[in-house]
Amino acid sequence: MSNQAHYKGFATTAIHKGQEPDPLTGAVTVPLYQTSTYAQEGIGQHKGFEYARTHNLTRSKWEENFAALEQGTHGFAFASGLAAIDTVMKLLSAGDHVLAAEDMYGGTFRLFDKILRRFGVEFSYVDMTNLDAVKAAIKPNTKMLYTETPTNPMMMLTDLRGVAALKNTAQGAAMLVVDNTFASPYFQQPLTLGADIVLHSATKYLGGHSDLVSGIVATNRADIAEQLKFLQNAAGAVPGPFECWLCLRSVKTLAVRMKQHEENAMKIAEFCAAHKGIQKVYYPGLKSHPQHELATKQMRGFGAMISIELGSLEQAQQFAKKVRVFTLAESLGGVESLVCHPVSMTHGSVPKETRDRLGVTDGLVRLSVGIEDIEDLLQDIEQALS
Ligand code: PLP
Repeated sequence: MSNQAHYKGFATTAIHKGQEPDPLTGAVTVPLYQTSTYAQEGIGQHKGFEYARTHNLTRSKWEENFAALEQGTHGFAFASGLAAIDTVMKLLSAGDHVLAAEDMYGGTFRLFDKILRRFGVEFSYVDMTNLDAVKAAIKPNTKMLYTETPTNPMMMLTDLRGVAALKNTAQGAAMLVVDNTFASPYFQQPLTLGADIVLHSATKYLGGHSDLVSGIVATNRADIAEQLKFLQNAAGAVPGPFECWLCLRSVKTLAVRMKQHEENAMKIAEFCAAHKGIQKVYYPGLKSHPQHELATKQMRGFGAMISIELGSLEQAQQFAKKVRVFTLAESLGGVESLVCHPVSMTHGSVPKETRDRLGVTDGLVRLSVGIEDIEDLLQDIEQALS
């Protein structure tokens, strides 16, 4: 039977950790425990499973697997990426302050600004690429530093070791939470760089096939794990077992998918950077990216998300209309290439002045590079720009 003592590599861990053959039948894939409750032998006598919001073995196996991929000790699965973020924020209380990145997924900003603020949690937003600005913005009641890296959609990086070193400047010490959705644990492991909590929209690379919505969190702190376990059950935003089963299946190919995603993305970024019809390319793998060096230090690769500036809304509309292999759709991280217009699709809830400051313009288009044949993808971009 598989045992982590027998392996160290990422791909082997993804395929075997928590995915040992079923002890009852020998099935080589984790069984799908599609049940809401469990028979008890007598009152108070059960096998450790009482109700499926609290315990589901398919979910536990996925959590165990994911925690290992992020080099954490505990994993917690949720019904969506936002459900994961919402539950993590419930570690806080009214009066606590969160210092968050100003450039992040619009839905996360909406959750903070439109909902959690009403419960007395205080938020301020800072340029997370600037460590001096982060240090200056930490307040006595700062309990959490929250960032995404690379960011959605401007592909800015947070120096995770640098920000982690500032955690203790807050009275009572703040925890560092990192949304690692864009990089995936294959390219970046924030817990090894000083983060306390790492989370993902598993809808993206972890699921990888644009066929599920889910979220997942890992930590290496026992105190945080205990609270998250309580919150996962008490607030109840858990995924169904089938989503967990699909994630277990998908991560078996995460390493090969990420390699191919990145190989394609690098070629597309270089092609776009040389194309006259494109004014700017945002991709941390390009030497022209202002934080390329940081990317080489804290990431094992650069991912497959690229933003391109086409100059105007009309150009963006034309491009989105003309692509044939890329599909115009929200989301990212699937095997199929997608194109998205952040201003009208994912970042509508971010105020216009913030968008303008960050460069989220009407002409900005975001590409999620899939794993199709690179010649087809390049040809598609070429014809859509012509
Ligand atoms: N974090 C990032 C970086 C995202 O891009 C998204 C969704 O696009 C989310 C979180 C939210 O995840 P979900 O859509 O699974 O709720």
